[in-house]
Amino acid sequence: MQVDFSKSPDGLVPAIIQDAITNKVLMLGYMNQEALDKTLAEGKVTFFSRSKNRLWTKGEESGNFLQLKHAAIDCDADTLLLKVHPEGPTCHTGADTCWNEVNKDAASFLGNLEQVIRDRKQNPTDKSYTASLFAKGINKVAQKVGEEAVELVIEAKDNNDHLFINEAADLLFHYLILLQAKGFTLEDVVNILKDRHK
Ligand code: AMP
Ligand code: ZN
Ligand code: ZN
Ligand code: ZN
Repeated sequence: MQVDFSKSPDGLVPAIIQDAITNKVLMLGYMNQEALDKTLAEGKVTFFSRSKNRLWTKGEESGNFLQLKHAAIDCDADTLLLKVHPEGPTCHTGADTCWNEVNKDAASFLGNLEQVIRDRKQNPTDKSYTASLFAKGINKVAQKVGEEAVELVIEAKDNNDHLFINEAADLLFHYLILLQAKGFTLEDVVNILKDRHK
């Protein structure tokens, strides 16, 4: 990867850090050639910290390393976009991203919810409703989606907005569980829609 470090006088280029699964923007740091080389060699993100004035491996104190999944350079080779799997909260405040306020859009939230659902499937607990649904099997999950869809249709014919919107939420939630039970994600569905949209 050829990066143009010469454009800025300090030889640093910005590196946008994005979650490889949720697409959330997690943080921004700066890199020189040495930081980039170390990042590519070790598979976890190392910046050049302007405040520390040295190489800084994100997570060196907190243990919240950023595992590199994909590195890309922009059109004129002066900005990096790094897709990562964060091993813990990325922001030093303990938040998962340094821009919590701007990641609260509907799509990001659904991405989070999908991760929680995946976690309930992989690490079931007694108390979890979602885990208990997975345990009952695909047919039961599919039946639940059918029930919620019927409830939504019934409320659509009434004029109680509160009941309608709550049934809409129930349907979406159980729909996400069914996707997960079948081994799919929202992204798979969106890809089909994108294909049709061409
Ligand atoms: P860490 O790299 O997570 O072990 O954190 C080490 C130090 O780096 C912290 O004490 C903060 O001063 C700083 N730091 C950690 N995360 C961030 C961040 N997302 N943005 C800016 N500074 C950070
Ligand atoms: Zn550029
Ligand atoms: Zn932060
Ligand atoms: Zn319902």
